[in-house]
Amino acid sequence: RRRDPDQPEFHQATGAVLRTLWPDIRHRQELFEAGILERLLEPERVILFRVPWVDDQGRVQVNRGYRVQMNSAIGPYKGGLRFHPSVDLGILKFLAFEQTFKNALTTLPMGGGKGGADFDPKGRSNGEVMRFCQSFMNELYRHIGPDLDVPAGDIGVGAREVGYLFGQYKRLRNEFTGVLTGKGFAWGGSLLRPEATGYGLVYFVEEMLRVRGSGLEGLRVAISGSGNVAQHAAGLLVSQGARVVTMSDSGGTVHNPAGFTQAQWQALMVLKNEKRGRISEWAEQFSMRYLPGARPWGVECDVALPCATQNELDKADAEQLLRQGCHCVAEGSNMGCTAEAVSYLRDARVLYAPSKAANAGGVSVSGLEMSQNALRLNWNEGEVDEKLHAIMHAIHGSCVKYGREGDHIDYVRGANVAGFIKVAEAMLAQGVV
Ligand code: NDP
Repeated sequence: RRRDPDQPEFHQATGAVLRTLWPDIRHRQELFEAGILERLLEPERVILFRVPWVDDQGRVQVNRGYRVQMNSAIGPYKGGLRFHPSVDLGILKFLAFEQTFKNALTTLPMGGGKGGADFDPKGRSNGEVMRFCQSFMNELYRHIGPDLDVPAGDIGVGAREVGYLFGQYKRLRNEFTGVLTGKGFAWGGSLLRPEATGYGLVYFVEEMLRVRGSGLEGLRVAISGSGNVAQHAAGLLVSQGARVVTMSDSGGTVHNPAGFTQAQWQALMVLKNEKRGRISEWAEQFSMRYLPGARPWGVECDVALPCATQNELDKADAEQLLRQGCHCVAEGSNMGCTAEAVSYLRDARVLYAPSKAANAGGVSVSGLEMSQNALRLNWNEGEVDEKLHAIMHAIHGSCVKYGREGDHIDYVRGANVAGFIKVAEAMLAQGVV
C-alpha cells in the first residue's frame, strides 16, 4: 500500500486473496522464507508506453499503453488487453494478479499478464481504431511472442481489434505465429473462443447448481452487460430454457420478466456487434422495459451473473438480490462484486463463485488456441467444447477440494488456495528469481 497508494483495485484484489489464503498457508514457513507472497505482489515487468495516432480530423491524439507481465512461473504471460478510458496501472495490476491464479486453475500452462490503454473505441471509426491498434502494436511487439507473452481481448478489444493488432505484429515481425488469441478462425483462431467465457460461466453455474441437486431450466437469470461475455452467456442460457430477464450497458438496463426470446437475443447480437448500438435501442425495438442509469440487481431472479466490469455489484445490491429470491451469484466480469458484497454473500452461504473460477473459460480456450497454433491444427467445435467442459469441471473440482466446509462450498477459498498452491510450488522449485 505504501508503494502504490493510488491503486485501490489492486489492494482490493490482493487483500482479498491474502486474507482467504492465510489460514491455509500460515504454517508453511518455507513460503515466507522464499518471499513467495512479496514476489507474487510485484509484477515481473511493467511496460508503459506512448501511443500516438491520428484521428479522422487529422488531429494527433496520444494515449497511454501498458503491459503488465505479472508472473511466468507456470508458463508464458497470458491475459487480455483492455481499451477503456478508466484503464490505469492499478486496474491492470489487479487484473494481472487475478489472471495468474485463474490461469493456474485452468490446468493449462499459462502465466499471468494483462495490458491495454486508456483509449475509448466507442464512437471511433474503423479507420481510427485501426490506426490506434497499429500504433499500440508498434511498441508492444518488442515485448510479446508465442513463447513469451500472448495477449487476448478484454473490454473494448474484440475480434476487430485483435485483427488489427495481429496484422501489425505480423508485418513488423515478418512471421505468422500464435502471438495473440481471439483471432478469426480463418487465420489461426479457435472455434468457440468468442463464446468461451460466457459458455464456461454457464457450465460452471450448472456445476454449482448440481451440488444442490438442481438445474438451470426455468430459472430466472439476471445478467449485466451486453458485450462478449454477457452475450454468449445469455445465448446459451436462452437455448437451454433458462429465463434471462435482464441485459445492460453503461447507459441502463433492459428488463423482460418473461425472459428474452431467441429472436430477441439474435437481434441484440446484430445491434451490438454489427451496428455497435446501445441497449436502449434494443428495448425500443421490442417494446421492452428500459431502466435508464440502473443496474440489473433490483429485479426478481434466481441467479445473478455480473458480466460488465469490476465492482458492479455492491453490498446493497447483494442484499436486494437475496431478498428478491436470488440464491446463486457467479462472476462473468473480473471482480464483479465489491469486497463488501463478497463478504455478505459468503456469510449468507449462498452459491457464490468468484471470477477467477467462473470466467476462466475464455482464457482456457485461449490456451487451447495456443495449442492448436503450436500443432498447426484446428480442432472441431465438438472437440473444443468437450475440452472446455472438462476444464470447467476440473476448476469446479479444485474449488470443492479446497473449499468444502461441511455441506457448503466456499468457492472463494477453494479457488484462491488451489491457484496459489500451483503457482507457489512452481516458484519454490525455480528459486529466487
Ligand atoms: P465488452 O467490451 O465486450 O463488453 C463490456 C460490457 O460491459 C458492455 O456492455 C459495456 O457497456 C459494459 N461496461 C463496461 N464498463 C462498464 C462500466 N464502467 N459500467 C457499466 N457497464 C460497463 O467486454 P467483455 O464482455 O469482454 O468483458 C466483460 C467483463 O468480463 C470484464 O470484466 C472482463 O475483464 C471480463 N472477462 C472477459 C473475458 C473475455 O473473454 N472477453 C474473459 C474473462 C473475463 P458499454 O458498451 O456501455 O461500455
